[in-house]
Amino acid sequence: MTELSLLDAATFRDRLARIQERIVQACRRAGRSPDEVILIGVTKTFPVSVVQLAFEAGLRHFGENRVQELVAKAAVLPGHIEGGTITWHMIGHLQRNKAKEVVAHADWLHSLDNLRLAETLEQRAAQAERRLPCLVEVNVSGESTKFGLPPEAVHDFLDALAPFEHLEICGLMTLAAPTDDPEAVRPQFRLLRQLAQTYDARRNPRVQLRYLSMGMSGDFEVAIEEGATHVRIGSALFGPRLV
Ligand SMILES: *Cc1c(COP(=O)(O)O)cnc(C)c1O
Repeated sequence: MTELSLLDAATFRDRLARIQERIVQACRRAGRSPDEVILIGVTKTFPVSVVQLAFEAGLRHFGENRVQELVAKAAVLPGHIEGGTITWHMIGHLQRNKAKEVVAHADWLHSLDNLRLAETLEQRAAQAERRLPCLVEVNVSGESTKFGLPPEAVHDFLDALAPFEHLEICGLMTLAAPTDDPEAVRPQFRLLRQLAQTYDARRNPRVQLRYLSMGMSGDFEVAIEEGATHVRIGSALFGPRLV
């Protein structure tokens, strides 16, 4: 978290406006309303002062991939679950021993990918008397380094989440393969949308797959064209990460 990476407000506002305009254009191409797409600023590795600067510029959704970093920043700028005015999204892989902190400080979880984690989150959310909106992470690129369920396992996994009353299973999340050509990953985003569309809601009425969290700095426009409702953007907003 080096201070050298600190942004000035004018630079940030300019980047934010450009990204928002590209979101609008991608929605236009797809015949969608820009209101359907939530921009999540991914602030991992940046100090909380950067979150505050982005908040002052109007951003209201923030994502972190490590629980400790989310907890530290939420202590300064709390999410809705702690009475604040922003939404904190936990977007990175989650270990079960951190489930309690996610339930206490995160508004949403984008990385649900196994039943034991679901069981632990359910217990913690029940104790905290809250419901946790969760997206199920899918490994659409098939890379062995990625977390998430293989596509063919997703529907059975959704069935198996039926007993967990405190988890609101409201969509799917993915990271496409890294690429210089976003067109190359369009089929991966399309696959995520199709997995959501083909799930028969009668299998588990508690599951409502309304959201698709997909698209990052290099590929968010294609993701929006394929139906993304949440794009997770780090470097295009905040600059390169130095760690
Ligand atoms: C870091 C990260 C992002 C943002 O990546 P950029 O390429 O910097 O936009 C999005 N999603 C997840 C899960 C991440 O860890």
